[in-house]
Amino acid sequence: MVDLCCPLRGVCNRACERCYRWFPCLADPVRRSSLLLKVALVGLHLVCAGVLFLFDRDLIEKAQKEPWYIALYLLLFVATLIQYFVTACSSPGYVLDVMRAVNDTNSMFTNRFKQRQTASSKNGGFVVSLDGNQSGRNLLGSNSTSWSKMVMGLYPPGTSIRTFTCSYCNVEQPPRAKHCHDCDRCVLQFDHHCVWLGTCIGQGNHNRFWWYICEETALGLWTEILYIAYLTADIARAWWKDAVMILLLIFLSISLIFLFLLLLFHSYIVLTNQTTYELVRRRRIPYLRGIPERVYPFSKGACRNLYYFCCARSSIYDLERLPTAQELEEKSRPFTCLDVFTCRCCC
Ligand SMILES: [Zn+2]
Ligand SMILES: [Zn+2]
Repeated sequence: MVDLCCPLRGVCNRACERCYRWFPCLADPVRRSSLLLKVALVGLHLVCAGVLFLFDRDLIEKAQKEPWYIALYLLLFVATLIQYFVTACSSPGYVLDVMRAVNDTNSMFTNRFKQRQTASSKNGGFVVSLDGNQSGRNLLGSNSTSWSKMVMGLYPPGTSIRTFTCSYCNVEQPPRAKHCHDCDRCVLQFDHHCVWLGTCIGQGNHNRFWWYICEETALGLWTEILYIAYLTADIARAWWKDAVMILLLIFLSISLIFLFLLLLFHSYIVLTNQTTYELVRRRRIPYLRGIPERVYPFSKGACRNLYYFCCARSSIYDLERLPTAQELEEKSRPFTCLDVFTCRCCC
């Protein structure tokens, strides 16, 4: 038995090695499982919609009579898959990227400043020549300090730098950032690591993620309506077709309930400017300890939260500071009749 298995195993190993040579990304188990999940998700979409078009003759007739109806459905189908891949490939806003961007901006300013100094010193007959490597090292040093200063400014005075330095990346984390062990990087406004998308959801792509869930829910609902219309139509058809459709309808209904709840949950955290991580681990996060449950420390009011989420968060360099004790006190103040009239929760 062992002798029979060994040649087969050898053939499999050789085939895998050849496959990894052509597609190097498959050699990494994490990327491999992420790719398999993406293929499975696209496959599920194709099966659910494909079965409908294969079995439902009425739908084909309807497509010929009212082509816009099916065209709209197919448009939503394609848009959902595009949104899925765009979200999966988008950056959640890695702290290291922002730090590098800040460093580049600062080095540009420092270079300009040094060039001006060099030009002005020529008048006095003394020219300072800059060695490339040396200046780079100096700039890196000064930039890492400026990044530290910038991050320190976001915390209350007296906070130790050690409390917000990531022990894995060795970078200072701005408030609300967290190290993701799957991505092995710190993520700005870390929400969660999405296994289906194979990426983190953070400040840079939370907006896209919300739109993806929204489109997926709409597509699921529309597909379910088409399934119910097929099953309730008074047409003679094979029993196994009904069985397949009922099984897929059960699967669709479960997925739809999950998607709808997810959409509601993310809409709630967007309106209150929270993240899933902050909501779930509220008692364990140092900057949220001691804040009453109903107080949302980063909320600017539902309307402003929505505006920042939709429009003003195109830049991932928009870092939020921790609220002061006075601001927290103001937020914990109980609602009065005047607050209801002035829409305190919205503005
Ligand atoms: Zn980290
Ligand atoms: Zn991650």
